[in-house]
Amino acid sequence: MLKIKNMEQNTSILLIYTGGTIGMVEDSETGVLSPFDFKHLTKQIPEIKRFQFNIESISFKPVIDSSNMDPGVWVHLAEIIEENYESFDGFVILHGSDTMAYTASALSFMLENLSKPVIFTGSQLPLGKIRTDGKENVITALEIAAAKKDGKAIVPEVCIYFEYKLYRGNRTIKYNAEHFEAFRSVNYPELAKAGVKINYNFSAISKPTEQELRIFTNLDTNVAVLKIFPGINPNTMRAVFNTEGLKAVILETYGSGNAPSDKWFIDEIENATSKGLIVMNVTQCRGGSVQMGKYETGIGLEKAGVLSGRDITVEAAITKLMYLLGSGYSTEKIKKYIEKPIRGEMSA
Ligand code: ASP
Repeated sequence: MLKIKNMEQNTSILLIYTGGTIGMVEDSETGVLSPFDFKHLTKQIPEIKRFQFNIESISFKPVIDSSNMDPGVWVHLAEIIEENYESFDGFVILHGSDTMAYTASALSFMLENLSKPVIFTGSQLPLGKIRTDGKENVITALEIAAAKKDGKAIVPEVCIYFEYKLYRGNRTIKYNAEHFEAFRSVNYPELAKAGVKINYNFSAISKPTEQELRIFTNLDTNVAVLKIFPGINPNTMRAVFNTEGLKAVILETYGSGNAPSDKWFIDEIENATSKGLIVMNVTQCRGGSVQMGKYETGIGLEKAGVLSGRDITVEAAITKLMYLLGSGYSTEKIKKYIEKPIRGEMSA
């Protein structure tokens, strides 16, 4: 464990390294990327020794590429935060960028009554590269995790910090595989922008709760995503809807939540919902919201029992469904919560 102590201060941040590009170094001879020993983080980022707060770190062993993230790892992360919640003022999680939006969304639901910052960050270039974007990302994420106003955390939510911007985690998508600005939050404003100063968008940040942190670990993965496209085949739809054990499907629709109005299509959906399957409408568009009453092609879905995901991202929809299905709530309650924001993941 890396420990950087600054005895004058009583703010402490826990840095959790899960894996991803950020923690790689390049072998100078072969050019091959491999994870560096996290104990030597200060060799890569000596600046963190100058912070006016304490930093401790723990590292996954082995570290994982974020393509190998799964709900089991999300539970592990939630448990680490729970175990260390009283001892630390904030948490920074270094994570591969590929599935960061899924993990951040999942944790936003799993960490109930969160009143401390949990900031995800990573990088497009490894810390061991001269032009790395990782250094700034880690330094500013730590600063945001430690930031307080009137003794309280400024950002008591699960966020992603990347390339000078702080986003609400469950509003974020990975948008670009190459640019340093890899993430976007199209339907919700940035929570902060880092320039010469870090400017917080206070009105967009959720308020801290006085209740005790509780972690939720019973995620139910019986969910699927069905992206519709012109020419979609009834057999494909049936195969998805008839998946054994399936409880909910995210139907990725066109525009403001539209889908073919062909009888066979609506019949397939109606069949699925009447058997008890939950069908949630999420638009394929990056921005904007599902409004099923707007066009005839959307009204058919509404009549067939499809629920509106409004302006939620697919990443947040998947993890919200896993959370709700695992909660033990009645089907009626689950349906009600699907269409309502429970962690700021959709507009009211
Ligand atoms: N494949 C890497 C990962 O997601 C990419 C990254 O870290 O940005 O773990």
